[in-house]
Amino acid sequence: MNNDQTLGEPNKPANSTPNQASSPDPAAEQIAAVWARVRGRLQAEVGDVEYRTWLKHMTLVGIDGDEAVIALPTRFTRDWVRSHYADRVGALWQAEQRSVRHVEFIVRGSVQIVGLAETQVAAPAPAEPASAVSPRFAPLAVVARGEERLEPARDPRFTFDSFVVGKPNEFAYACARRVAESPASPGFNPLFLYGGVGLGKTHLMLSIAWELTDPARPGGPLSVTYMSAERFMYRFIAALRSKSTMEFKEELRSVDVLMIDDLQFLIGKDTTQEEFFHTFNALVDSGKQIVVSADKSPSDLSGLEDRVRTRLGCGMVADLHATTLELRMSILETKANRAGVHVPPKVNEFLAHKITSNVRELEGAQNRLIAHANLFGRAITLESAQEVLHDLLKSFDRRVSIEEIQRRVSEHYNIRITDMSSARRARAVARPRQVAMYLAKQLTSRSLPEIGRKFGNRDHTTVMHAVSRVTELMGLDAAFAEDVELLRRMLES
Ligand code: ADP
Ligand code: MG
Repeated sequence: MNNDQTLGEPNKPANSTPNQASSPDPAAEQIAAVWARVRGRLQAEVGDVEYRTWLKHMTLVGIDGDEAVIALPTRFTRDWVRSHYADRVGALWQAEQRSVRHVEFIVRGSVQIVGLAETQVAAPAPAEPASAVSPRFAPLAVVARGEERLEPARDPRFTFDSFVVGKPNEFAYACARRVAESPASPGFNPLFLYGGVGLGKTHLMLSIAWELTDPARPGGPLSVTYMSAERFMYRFIAALRSKSTMEFKEELRSVDVLMIDDLQFLIGKDTTQEEFFHTFNALVDSGKQIVVSADKSPSDLSGLEDRVRTRLGCGMVADLHATTLELRMSILETKANRAGVHVPPKVNEFLAHKITSNVRELEGAQNRLIAHANLFGRAITLESAQEVLHDLLKSFDRRVSIEEIQRRVSEHYNIRITDMSSARRARAVARPRQVAMYLAKQLTSRSLPEIGRKFGNRDHTTVMHAVSRVTELMGLDAAFAEDVELLRRMLES
């Protein structure tokens, strides 16, 4: 833990000053130039307003293997940019630099980058032309996400106060409050929260963390570790690689409260599951609180080992139901009030009617309205809302289903639709199947395991492989890329 303090202080030669590009690094310059071109193209494609609202906040963190890592200042902008521009950024990047296959978006400051000065991670997003952006970067620095410390989870945006309670979430809310008041009480350990995307699971977890880490808490603040299951896995694998699993285990077992978010991502990862299980037992046995979230109940999480499932279900299991119109209205009102912005009730009602799937998207739409209103100094009206959200609402009006994707893709490649879920491995059917999986990942909000299930119960790793294979091929074969783009446009229109 102690060496964390040294992370902010780069090991640089005594006589170098931070802004002096004393030894120009050709690799660094090359990546800076690529990044500048990618940004330029993006700006030309999306237009100035869209670019200034969202994209100019991107900062390149570095290249990590085949992945470009880009930071954004908040979770909201990160999510927005990821869901709206990830594909474009990725494609533009690949066109410039073949070796980069993925783009990862992170929240600035959410990772520690070993060997890079803190300022390089936390530097304000450059608004200037990209040429000014990069000399300070050491772009090839390894993004050592495996070695970050366990961040104390304290985020003032996600508290019980800012959580709007209604019928669909009142039970989960009450359970979360109970755990925040008396952690590790019998019957509430572990607390297992589940529900669809964007219904408030992470918000509730962070609210518990907020209370328990409060310096003014009676009995003193507790140490809380919050991690997504993906991060847990990543850290565990990194620890295995660097032969530091003991440290990792000790670190995990020294906390008072362990929170693992989105457990569904641990499915199928046997060794990681095993480790999670042991940590879990060790913590519960020593009277520590565990909070876990997932998209399904323990009994519906397929691919989970039985003993893990049993363990998970033996505390309190609480679900977050889909929102009601009433709850959505009340969330919108509360958020507008908090932001100090006047949004006419008609506009809220319109949004609450249109965007029913999840609160994150609802919030995103409202934020976009507010951003536009600020940008142009205009009041928010029903007309402006319809105009500003035109493209967004269109996509809500018409959500593509996996079945439809399978049908279109089969038609296009002239294969039988049943081959989408058959075991046949001939290229003539396997490739279209991969394309359909790729499109399912791009155009729907289904998780990899869900997509796998729709394709004849295939494993999520098969879907993952399909996605990266198709991405790769699109970079190599222009005709193939055009085909896939055509299918995408057909499905989207
Ligand atoms: P999940 O983890 O279930 O996918 P999140 O907790 O990340 O969802 O919620 C998505 C967004 O919606 C967050 O910004 C969160 O603050 C907001 N949100 C969800 N439910 C509520 C609620 N009941 N009241 C206020 N904000 C909410
Ligand atoms: Mg979440």
